[in-house]
Amino acid sequence: MQQRLGQQIILFPLPLQGHLNPMLQLANLLYSKGFSITIVHTEFNSPNPANHPNFTFHAIADGLKGSQASTQDSVVLVSLLNINCFTPFHDWLSELLSSKISDGESITCLITDAIWHFAQGVADRLNIPRLVLKTSSVSSFAGFAAIPLLLEKGYLPKRESLLEEPVPELPPLRVKDLPVIKTHDPEDFYGLMSSVERETNASAGIIWNTFEQLEETSLNKLRQEIGIPIFPVGPLHKFFTASSSRLLAQDLSSISWLNQQATNTVLYVSFGSLATITETEFLEIAWGLANSKQPFLWVVRPGLVCNSEWLEPLPKGFLKMVGGRGKIIKWAPQQEVLAHPAIGGFWTHSGWNSTLESLCEGVPMICFPCIGDQMVNSRYVSHIWKVGVSLEKRLKREEIEREIRRVMVENEGQEMRERIMYWKEKLNSCSRQGGSSYNYLESLAAYISSF
Ligand code: UDP
Repeated sequence: MQQRLGQQIILFPLPLQGHLNPMLQLANLLYSKGFSITIVHTEFNSPNPANHPNFTFHAIADGLKGSQASTQDSVVLVSLLNINCFTPFHDWLSELLSSKISDGESITCLITDAIWHFAQGVADRLNIPRLVLKTSSVSSFAGFAAIPLLLEKGYLPKRESLLEEPVPELPPLRVKDLPVIKTHDPEDFYGLMSSVERETNASAGIIWNTFEQLEETSLNKLRQEIGIPIFPVGPLHKFFTASSSRLLAQDLSSISWLNQQATNTVLYVSFGSLATITETEFLEIAWGLANSKQPFLWVVRPGLVCNSEWLEPLPKGFLKMVGGRGKIIKWAPQQEVLAHPAIGGFWTHSGWNSTLESLCEGVPMICFPCIGDQMVNSRYVSHIWKVGVSLEKRLKREEIEREIRRVMVENEGQEMRERIMYWKEKLNSCSRQGGSSYNYLESLAAYISSF
């Protein structure tokens, strides 16, 4: 057991599943390096302290009222939280800093999700270094950071006639791949991203859930543009699983079901914690899966289908018709599922965590990006790393069936499987002693200790 250093780090995750997981994984890593950990969190989507007995937890009032506590419009939600959390966070931290001075243990720094842009102002006022954690890819950050240029050049807002056009300033992206998040007023999204970028650049450094070899070109470009240290220590889930930070109960029967399936035959389908689809899309997916004749494990999160609680739109007798070939669950132990030998493909919304988890287990992907950075991730999966295909057109059962067969049955899928094994090996070795992420973690710990 690593000796305690008497240095405490305050970590502040964004209360969304894809952000909570990497932050709590990072907390575990830093704890293993001897730092004491305090997690400050909102009341909305709060993590379960019982799963992390080594950490101290503190909830701050987030001021969300009624329907505001919803992920339906994530831009509205995080913009509101950035405003509401300023005073409670400032006051709590200010008090903590003064009490700890007399307490012996020093508070070394603050690590917040990059989206908490307000936290830089608090850190400056209280004179405490703030590092940010980026939970998305470096390549998508470049896309977000280029928004002012993209607006100036007319690539944004996206126009139907230009969607297929390449964006020479951001290869290999086309206009359709640019990371935007729909909200009632696009100006709110541009404003939010500009604040996040400005305050990230003002921080003491960026911890990135990525690894050197995977995004070497984007990382090198970033290093030339940014004047603060960068620590690509990912993939964070390789060190600690996400199970303990889950917000929904995992259906463990999925593993016993997978145990009965043949190697590389099952398509795992999940669109993460935020994406929503229409009832029409849901039905096309259901029929596409049924017609493909491949076994499938499908996560239908409650609320995934707009205006439905769960599976109400599914045609009567659907599951009986597909028989034992298909299983639908509400939430999966995703890392364990992807690592299961029965899994042969992952139909994903291309969230960054899901993409990394799939790369780590050598599972080729069918990408169905919905918002923001997912478009960029999908482009890299299909066109740079060439370990998946992209379902870009409107969801139609015939197209779905064709893409499933491409990845699961045809030679092309086999080639992707061979290519992804290269990344699997790289990802596994980067976190071992002497690997790039291992070394960055060592230098991050030394950097934090030097504050
Ligand atoms: N996840 C899970 N079970 C599921 C679906 C997702 O545990 O049934 C986890 C997944 O392993 C990943 C996170 O939820 O760590 C989703 O993050 P991602 O960045 O892929 O997408 P987001 O939910 O942020 O859109």
